[in-house]
Amino acid sequence: MRLVLIGPPGCGKGTLSSFIVKEYGTPHISTGDIFREHRASGSSFGQKIASYIDRGELVPDELVLDVVFDRLGRPDCAKGFIFDGFPRTLQQAEALQERLHKAGKPLDAVVAFEVPDEILVGRLVTRRVCPNCNAVYNIKNCPPKVENTCDQCQHELVHRPDDHEDVIKSRLEVYRRSTEPLIDYYKGLGLLVTLDGSQGSQEVDRQFSVLAAKFS
Ligand code: AMP
Repeated sequence: MRLVLIGPPGCGKGTLSSFIVKEYGTPHISTGDIFREHRASGSSFGQKIASYIDRGELVPDELVLDVVFDRLGRPDCAKGFIFDGFPRTLQQAEALQERLHKAGKPLDAVVAFEVPDEILVGRLVTRRVCPNCNAVYNIKNCPPKVENTCDQCQHELVHRPDDHEDVIKSRLEVYRRSTEPLIDYYKGLGLLVTLDGSQGSQEVDRQFSVLAAKFS
């Protein structure tokens, strides 16, 4: 299965990705997770991208594409992949199309999440993530078993600095301006399917399973 998940921050891309990994064994590629790992490592690449992430702005396309194509070239992606948070600009989307076309491995579908802004903001301010294994929790709807501790690896959870209300607003603006136009782009390519992401995760997983039966 070769998929792109597209939608605003907090729409549930990461949560659905965990379900797909478990259910179908498809590798999950989250550019946000990759960038945060670089950032935490303190590498020179990590330092270069830190200010973009902290301000909720997009990392420049050429840096993103290097990281993504390197990841895509690894052996596990031969059986497919789920992109979460990539592509985010038309230039990224076109570069991906070209790369996959050349490899003779086109996308099966692009899944777009539809969620009202007020739900997104509410979810992000209560979201907590594990910086070690990238598991996602929500202190309201999906809390860990032990407060502030990851169920999977027992690492301390964090409230991402860009999940605070001031940065969330600019991330949503960036999404509307740079990423939302990709919905029309993929519609034009006949790849777009939509999900109602305002529902709980079990309902989103169910909607995805119905869609996946058609393209997997
Ligand atoms: P995410 O975890 O997907 O919300 O991404 C966190 C941050 O990483 C974003 O706000 C951007 O600063 C950066 N980022 C992740 N993916 C991309 C991408 N495809 N293009 C540009 N910047 C990205």
